[in-house]
Amino acid sequence: MGTFKLAGTSMKGLFSKPATKMYPVVVPEYFERTAGHIENVDMKSCILCGLCARKCPTGCLVVDKGAETWSIDPFGCITCGSCVRACPKDCLVMQRTHTEPATDKRRITVKKPELTPEEKAAKAAAEAEKAARIAAAKAAAAKKKAEPAS
Ligand code: SF4
Ligand code: SF4
Repeated sequence: MGTFKLAGTSMKGLFSKPATKMYPVVVPEYFERTAGHIENVDMKSCILCGLCARKCPTGCLVVDKGAETWSIDPFGCITCGSCVRACPKDCLVMQRTHTEPATDKRRITVKKPELTPEEKAAKAAAEAEKAARIAAAKAAAAKKKAEPAS
């Protein structure tokens, strides 16, 4: 009896449509409440603080401040969203698309784009202003310390 049942199931499997989809030829439906995944970052807004990498439970994110790069192992991402919540500049979003199929375990690395001359000038001015504010605060603190206590 069991053999007939097994044979019936096998025959049914042979002549019915496969349960799997030929991704990426057939793009599966992206369900409304699917979490999405991380695959990219807005490098123009990223300040390379590394908070996302520190919060990532699988360690699939690496931020290299010296090389000005942000990288991800897309196969290591468990779509938890911790990095999105941790980012102070909102430069990470859960992408509501399917991951590109790949045959190798490559990392995706993004480099901070070169600043335009205007952006460089604005950055230098902001840094100079910050340095002046720090120097003024230090001078005020030193002056206060030097004043005799009344
Ligand atoms: S979603 Fe979670 S696992 Fe994926 S990169 Fe962000 S912190 Fe790491
Ligand atoms: S937390 Fe945001 S700003 Fe900081 S390194 Fe990550 S992506 Fe960049």
